[in-house]
Amino acid sequence: MTTKKFASQADLEEKKVTFSQISEHAWAYTAEGDPNTGIIIGDDCVLVADTQATPAMAADVIRRIREVTDKPIKYVVMTHYHAVRVLGASAYNAQQILASQDTYDLIVERGEQDKASEIGRFPRLFSNVETVPAGMTWPTMTFTGKMTLWLGTLEVQLLQLGRGHTKGDTVVWLPQERTLLSGDLVEFDATPYAGDAYFKDWPQTLDNLAALQPAALVPGRGAALVTPEQVSAGLRGTRDFIADVRASVEAGVAAGKDLNAVYKETMATLRPKYGHWVIFDHCMPFDVTRCFDEMTQYTHPRIWTAERDVEMWKTLEG
Ligand SMILES: [Zn+2]
Repeated sequence: MTTKKFASQADLEEKKVTFSQISEHAWAYTAEGDPNTGIIIGDDCVLVADTQATPAMAADVIRRIREVTDKPIKYVVMTHYHAVRVLGASAYNAQQILASQDTYDLIVERGEQDKASEIGRFPRLFSNVETVPAGMTWPTMTFTGKMTLWLGTLEVQLLQLGRGHTKGDTVVWLPQERTLLSGDLVEFDATPYAGDAYFKDWPQTLDNLAALQPAALVPGRGAALVTPEQVSAGLRGTRDFIADVRASVEAGVAAGKDLNAVYKETMATLRPKYGHWVIFDHCMPFDVTRCFDEMTQYTHPRIWTAERDVEMWKTLEG
């Protein structure tokens, strides 16, 4: 038996990009389960939510935007702090980089470790990592709870509707056309990464997203969802996955099992239902470890470092 390659180090196949309009002012840049970018084109400027992993990758987003508009890219929104979402930010030369104060605090607390850790996990996504500026990508403006931007007459709300994928999760909401950019709070045909998550909060946060009644949604990974039925399916799939991981881990913890046993059982239980989702094998060791932590002694996610990543992987997959 060969040992499973760490995280996504064996994943080297390029994905096909789709750039499509999903409502009057919103576009989705998606890539078969790789991290998505959402684009809002207002009367006088453009907003980009989640930047791609490097400036070199962001250049392809910019090229697509320039096929449909020459308005300036004024705002970059970080839906959360993960390196694969934010390190392309410098390419846009935006006037403002917006994030929740909770996201800002996470960058202060663990941004450096997260950057090193994610670059080690996803060599393909960071293939032009030398184009990333040294240091952190800092927000230039932060908010708590809710912030409204007006792109001319177009209202764009940045909302914190609860913790889930991280403590600082922010969604972008266009009330006039009921369009939502969810970041990694929602995935579609892609495995939610929950290594920095709050399992006890995430389902309620998804209910809060559902209460907006989105007609279209750009998930963190996977195809854009462009009907209320597709949106419901995306929300339901994510909610079910989080609930199923939690139920399996809780049962193992209640039975006094250790992390290794809980991991093996949870993999076996979930693989038939979710094994075909992209990055399933990548995410599960992180997801189960974090869930085990939350159900035992750690309310808040412990910081992943490149060293802790590899140590955990050896313990569970070695
Ligand atoms: Zn993320």
